[in-house]
Amino acid sequence: MNNTSRTLSARCCIVGGGPAGMMLAVQLARAGIKVVLLEKHGDFLRDFRGDTVHPSTLEILAELGLKQRFDSLPQRRVETIEGIFADGIYAVGDFRGLKPYPYLALVPQWDLLNLLAQEAQAYSNFTLLMRCEATGLIRTDGGAQVVGVTANAVEGPLQIYADLVIGCDGRGSCLREAAGLQSQNLGAPMDVLWFRLPRLGSDPEGTYAVPGKGNFFALLNRNDYWQCARVIPKGAADRWYQQPIAAFQAQIAQRIAFLADRVGALATWDDVKLLEVRVDRLLRWHRPGLLLIGDAAHAMSPIGGVGINLAIQDAVAAANILGPALTAPGVPDEAILAAVQKRRLLPTKIIQGIQVFLQRRIIAPALASSDDGRPIAFPRAAKFILRFRLIRSIPARVFGVGFFREHVMSGEPRGRTGKLSIRDIARH
Ligand SMILES: Cc1cc2nc3c(=O)[nH]c(=O)nc-3n(C[C@H](O)[C@H](O)[C@H](O)COP(=O)(O)OP(=O)(O)OC[C@H]3O[C@@H](n4cnc5c(N)ncnc54)[C@H](O)[C@@H]3O)c2cc1C
Repeated sequence: MNNTSRTLSARCCIVGGGPAGMMLAVQLARAGIKVVLLEKHGDFLRDFRGDTVHPSTLEILAELGLKQRFDSLPQRRVETIEGIFADGIYAVGDFRGLKPYPYLALVPQWDLLNLLAQEAQAYSNFTLLMRCEATGLIRTDGGAQVVGVTANAVEGPLQIYADLVIGCDGRGSCLREAAGLQSQNLGAPMDVLWFRLPRLGSDPEGTYAVPGKGNFFALLNRNDYWQCARVIPKGAADRWYQQPIAAFQAQIAQRIAFLADRVGALATWDDVKLLEVRVDRLLRWHRPGLLLIGDAAHAMSPIGGVGINLAIQDAVAAANILGPALTAPGVPDEAILAAVQKRRLLPTKIIQGIQVFLQRRIIAPALASSDDGRPIAFPRAAKFILRFRLIRSIPARVFGVGFFREHVMSGEPRGRTGKLSIRDIARH
């Protein structure tokens, strides 16, 4: 350990300022708990990382009194998900029957994170350290008890001592590795190429799935642009990258006719980002003094766009369970950390189970069939069944609301000092 390290101490140290970490920070800060959050990047304005804010998250934001501020963020409200097939456009998912929020909000993730960071920063007991990367765990008792993290900050090495460390550092979690926690890989037959194309006033209005033989596209309507996904077989990205970008442009133009006039916006492969899909789950989410939640505990498939929302549900459950233990004196017992895993395990397992089922039964066979460049026709049986709104609302309910929904249980916020600007946060 470096003797020149600076040292900080807190009741709780959160590693990672993604949806899980920021949502947890807001709630622990409101409860008056001394919290330090480390985020390795300098801001939240990074690559596309998913925009889907489902009704379950909208409800949490409302419970925290943040819904009005959230509503003022640039966004698109999606009430139905449609499929573009050879024989027309059909609704395949319908949020309109859901209460109290009958829509999915497409909001840049950085705007959501900035909002949560601003809210947490309004509490003097909360410290946000940007450009501060956790590098390992500090332990005592022969390694059994986690008592903090080591980190690299802009000013140099840092040690943060805390009664509880919560790893929210995403699917590549370094704390997961440092703690030696074992995960179960549930497998994924696909990866996703993400890219943006301009959206014109004459384009269709919806948000679409575009299934085809040997290929699958999704188009998220972001008002002035389309956030597009091309699902590819696992590991196939390199085969694409070896071809000129023109081959990719040509396929998009062939499959989605109204985009043909602007595929040139993808100038090089740098405009196309690869998401290596991984679905896994830790067998144990905790060690004495350490808990992992969000993607760090369970990486999700992009099916249903639920990763952000599950991470937020984890954070709410963790705050509800850990808040009282962290406001009382003493180090939280590992049994309390186990209670968080116990509460969130079943909803996570159910959603991952559905994702894996859909990956195996629909995505993998579709990607394995030979690509004739043509769209597929909407199967007759699906056409009949999905005429009923009740049936169309099932996928919206499963992914948009989820199972065993969490609600904010913390009392009145303590010690709010006022709002800070994004500039304040960046300067920190
Ligand atoms: C390209 C892409 C598209 C996606 N699309 C969707 C979608 O449409 N809908 C959806 O719901 N989900 C989507 N996801 C998944 C979603 O982003 C995640 O499930 C969700 O963000 C998980 O939240 P989290 O807070 O657990 O982790 P993350 O969002 O991964 O946050 C982890 C944070 O920890 C920070 N960090 C990592 N290591 C360290 C360290 N050592 N020290 C300090 N900080 C650290 C990271 O910088 C990051 O800010 C997508 C993901 C990707 C990559």
